[in-house]
Amino acid sequence: SSTVKLISSAQVITSVSSVVKELMENSFDAGASSLEIHLDGHGLDRIEVRDNGRGIPARQVQFMCQRSYTSKISDFSDLEKLSSYGFRGEALFSICAVADVSVSTICNGDPFAKTYKMNHNGEVIETKPTNLDRGTSILVTNLFKNLPVRKQFITSGKRKADEMKKVENVVKTLALINCEAQIRLTHNKFTIWQKASVCSILRSFIQVLPPSIVKQLEEISYRDELSNVGFTLLIPKQDCNIVTTCLGHSSEAVYLFVNRRPVREKELEKAVQDKVFEYFGSTIPSKKCPAMLASIILPPDMVDINLEPNKTKVMVKDIEKITKLLSDQLSIYYYGKDD
Ligand code: ADP
Ligand code: MG
Repeated sequence: SSTVKLISSAQVITSVSSVVKELMENSFDAGASSLEIHLDGHGLDRIEVRDNGRGIPARQVQFMCQRSYTSKISDFSDLEKLSSYGFRGEALFSICAVADVSVSTICNGDPFAKTYKMNHNGEVIETKPTNLDRGTSILVTNLFKNLPVRKQFITSGKRKADEMKKVENVVKTLALINCEAQIRLTHNKFTIWQKASVCSILRSFIQVLPPSIVKQLEEISYRDELSNVGFTLLIPKQDCNIVTTCLGHSSEAVYLFVNRRPVREKELEKAVQDKVFEYFGSTIPSKKCPAMLASIILPPDMVDINLEPNKTKVMVKDIEKITKLLSDQLSIYYYGKDD
């Protein structure tokens, strides 16, 4: 029924930032190297994400906002090989259920771009030609107009500003790990953040954190040929001034990614933190943690991201093996040997 659909969609799309996250992930999955995120009225009036990705083929448009439609997975065994952000086919369907959506897109070889207007069931109700050189633009207006309580909750008092902070966080976190992409975020036509295309996570980090902090970090990369596990770490340099690299609370300071997804995973975070804390010992102010990043790339059959939509949990196979690889490489960096 339409009530059931609204309830389940409202669980996938909980806020302005969850719309932004889903649309950005789709753009990255489409191979985009340039993204523009435009918000009006804190995103409640308008959220638009424009990309220069491969576009959406005309034959897909009528399905793309249907529940469980995804172009990214063809059978169940694909789940084990998956490297895209998306695979559930829930996001566009859910956004359509709680907002007005229109999709403009053009693929290589199309004579001109088209704009498709969707209804709340994710069906195309209008098609017209439009101007767009490349890629896809998804326009979301009147978010939560049929969920007045949620809309009022989000717009009350200082929650509007809090939600904008969350949007900024989502944009920066995804921008950080997709370092080759150029990204711009605007609100009511003002640019609030932007980032150029860069060639390393370290350079990407400079655009997210204060340069004075990033200058004190070192990037180390490692790849284990045997298991195909790889990682890139940004950790405090051996001779850095740890006090100035500290960034707030310890639980917030490790930026952890598994296969480019921002995640929380205590054991992995701890594996990175432990060596750093051991090496710098008492020079680390209590309750603070130096800024650090760990981007871990695992063969898709070693991770299960199929837990909950919208959550940052992952399940990792052979986690002891990975924490050992991390801790060995950190020992080599700090002490010149593994232990
Ligand atoms: P999922 O990402 O899990 O496949 P979504 O609901 O997010 O599901 O998107 C549905 C489908 O719409 C995608 O599988 C993809 O084919 C298409 N799509 C959505 N956004 C874009 C985009 N920006 N560029 C190209 N294709 C897109
Ligand atoms: Mg998606």
